[in-house]
Amino acid sequence: MSTIAAVSTPNAVGGIAVIRISGEKAINTAEAIFRPYGGKTVADMAGYTCAYGVAHDGDEIIDDCILTVFRAPHSYTGEDTCEISCHGGLYVSKRILRAALKYGAVNAEAGEFTKRAFLNGKLDLTQAEAVMDIISARGEAELRMAEQLREGATYKKVRKCSDRLLKILSGIAAWTDYPDEDIPEIEPSVIETELSGIRDELFSLIRSYDSGRILREGVATAIVGRPNVGKSTLFNCLSGCERSIVTDIAGTTRDVVEETVRLGDIVLRLSDTAGIHRTDDRIEGIGIDIAQKTAENAELVIAVFDGNCPLTADDFNLIKSIKNKKCIAVINKSDQQQVIESDALKEFFIQIVYISAKNGDGIEQLESAVKQIFEISPESFSVVSAANERQKLCIERAISSVDEGIEIIRSSEMYDALNVVLDDAEQALLELTGEKITDSVVDEVFSRFCVGK
Ligand code: GDP
Ligand code: MG
Repeated sequence: MSTIAAVSTPNAVGGIAVIRISGEKAINTAEAIFRPYGGKTVADMAGYTCAYGVAHDGDEIIDDCILTVFRAPHSYTGEDTCEISCHGGLYVSKRILRAALKYGAVNAEAGEFTKRAFLNGKLDLTQAEAVMDIISARGEAELRMAEQLREGATYKKVRKCSDRLLKILSGIAAWTDYPDEDIPEIEPSVIETELSGIRDELFSLIRSYDSGRILREGVATAIVGRPNVGKSTLFNCLSGCERSIVTDIAGTTRDVVEETVRLGDIVLRLSDTAGIHRTDDRIEGIGIDIAQKTAENAELVIAVFDGNCPLTADDFNLIKSIKNKKCIAVINKSDQQQVIESDALKEFFIQIVYISAKNGDGIEQLESAVKQIFEISPESFSVVSAANERQKLCIERAISSVDEGIEIIRSSEMYDALNVVLDDAEQALLELTGEKITDSVVDEVFSRFCVGK
């Protein structure tokens, strides 16, 4: 395999930049472009040691650097790897990379270091995906879930199911392939019970997929309501800054204003929208159309009402337009006298929260309401679950094959047919862990990584 090199730190000015080189010729390449001070040679350096020295390209001195050497197989990729830490200038790191490319390395593709770690058996595919999740984690919950995945929690659970399936498969094979031997027939009811157990175990991996995804990716949330109910004030209150313009003039917000905010443990990808009502103003009308589309596409709609006024026809039209969505009714302006008919709202909303967006009252109740809607509990953070669509689809495929297997064993006891469907289930699980997978799927997984990882 070729020797690859890339700048592993962001393409920005910083304290330090790291150039990573991995492959058979990594040591030779580093030897050609790095000279340790004090007469050491790179070739003599043991794994897990570093040296202070100078990076150069022939006679041209580039920068004072630290070289760290990892010897195969004790490195991230499993290959010989050298990491050169230089000053974090935009040019310096690129210049050292160019020298590495001149002396034996080729440019690494996106995710290629991790791909090699996978191909060399350092990680299974779920762990490799976890590396990407760790990099993109924006908060505690995401990081905790990704760490769990990286430690192999999903892999271990899937592996167990796969072993149980293999046991059934080999039992059937022994019995059907050697009919003359005295191998006892496996009781169909025993197989059925075992398959149900495997099914439950697999299902537990996708049951909390949605709440896990919400914790990882956040909820696309639209704040909607008629003009002047306090949508923008709520938006600003949640985002902690004066991002959206607030006035007492109806029709102030016309465009969608977006911000990613944290509400306790949950990330909301929040959109503030134009007040929805009947209007003859063409520009405002466009804003209202966009508001309606934003609500349609959102995973969560926060419908804001003014506690200070009775419900209006515009309020009821809005309620009608969002009746199929996951919704929370927010009755705003709790700091003022309440005249709204909140009992009428109870007919339409399961979650009703009273807030004052102006002084921040009731925001905790809003957080609880969001958690209830998405069934997020303290356990959601630690439950072992499929981490992405790819993993979820593999598990769903395995479950549907196991279900077919249960059907076959119940109705016909046709072991050949059972063999085929359980083998399909096994294949789906092997694909999930990456033990049996096509090159194109591997390429697809790693193409989502960044260069240098
Ligand atoms: P939007 O049209 O729904 O975006 O409403 P705004 O956020 O622009 O607010 C409309 C008016 O209501 C402004 O004058 C706000 O100061 C006022 N307002 C918003 N939230 C509250 C609140 O919780 N209490 C009180 N008393 N006034 C509020
Ligand atoms: Mg507004």
